[in-house]
Amino acid sequence: PLAVLSALAVNGVFAAIFASQSGRRRQQLERLATCDALTGAENRRALEAELERAIAAFRRDGRPVALALIDLDHFKRINDRFGHEEGDRVLRRFVDLVRRSTRATDRLFRYGGEEFVLLMEHTDEIAVERAFANLRRRVHAELRARGEAVTVSAGAAVLRHGETREAWFARADAALYRAKQAGRDRLVLDAPPPA
Ligand code: GH3
Ligand code: MG
Ligand code: MG
Repeated sequence: PLAVLSALAVNGVFAAIFASQSGRRRQQLERLATCDALTGAENRRALEAELERAIAAFRRDGRPVALALIDLDHFKRINDRFGHEEGDRVLRRFVDLVRRSTRATDRLFRYGGEEFVLLMEHTDEIAVERAFANLRRRVHAELRARGEAVTVSAGAAVLRHGETREAWFARADAALYRAKQAGRDRLVLDAPPPA
């Protein structure tokens, strides 16, 4: 019986090790599948799921949730003048800077080449303005391409009741377009619905 017991114990230990291994492995695979390889930001695939999750949370608790589309200004010029590798470095430094200057619960996704989405839960219009003002200050102070200043433009929208992911995203995208038209290096916040 002792032999059986010890065999069972050994078995249990191995089972536990295997379980934790495959758990870690699963996490690694999940990271690979949801992260952008260049910058380490979350990728576009992860974005869809997270937006849906944020919409569901808003339906439950009603706390405001904001989405900001952030696009680096005249990024093509950076590539043209300093090379693609410097462009890549700027993208990585931008992601690093956003991480350091936003809340731990804010989520950053790389949506396209030099276009990012910042998802901010428990964030209303006033808080979005504040967050971007802070981010913009940090970008001005720290983000450089071979010593030259880099700026960013953003369009943001706070989720409305009953709004779909597509409609929410489209409002932020239209606001980004207005920010570019108005001269870049700024945030345009889509207006809240009339009370
Ligand atoms: P705007 O201010 O209107 O946004 O101008 P822009 O030059 O930033 O925008 P545009 O869309 O014309 O150019 C984006 C450039 O980003 C073009 C593309 O080559 C570059 N790009 C996209 N992905 C990457 C990448 O992973 N690395 C580098 N270095 N460049 C990239
Ligand atoms: Mg751009
Ligand atoms: Mg762009």
